[in-house]
Amino acid sequence: MIKPDAVANGHIGAILDKITKSGFKLVALKLTSLSAEKAGEFYAVHQERGFYKDLVAFMSSGPIVAAILEKENAIEDFRKLIGATDPSKAEPGTIRNLFAKSIDANAVHGSDSDENAEIEGRFFFSAFERV
Ligand code: GDP
Repeated sequence: MIKPDAVANGHIGAILDKITKSGFKLVALKLTSLSAEKAGEFYAVHQERGFYKDLVAFMSSGPIVAAILEKENAIEDFRKLIGATDPSKAEPGTIRNLFAKSIDANAVHGSDSDENAEIEGRFFFSAFERV
């Protein structure tokens, strides 16, 4: 997912370019937005954390881009490409290092396992929206 900060700052094209040039194939793609309820559902795993309310408010604050990506070793390679959750700790050249300003407004989300990628893909897309 490209988060509301990166969409608002005009980075959709640059981020998708980096992703596809890094060998990821786009399987599904859409510009959409999350209601507070849907953002809360997406991040339900964090509901006991102190930052949950802020996270939900931020993720429902503006449009986002949802995508399903395909690649060998996709989870690990995508996490390397996006960099650390806190952009001030993200390696130079990573998406968060280049496009993110803070730990909440950190430009992109990546699934943390194949299993969660399946769940999150189904959260955003129906079968006919995937190529
Ligand atoms: P990710 O997989 O790198 O996105 O990180 P997590 O799954 O651990 O956290 C989900 C999202 O919650 C992150 O991308 C951040 O936007 C936010 N987040 C995580 N930890 C913190 C924190 O300590 N403070 C704040 N404000 N937000 C956080």
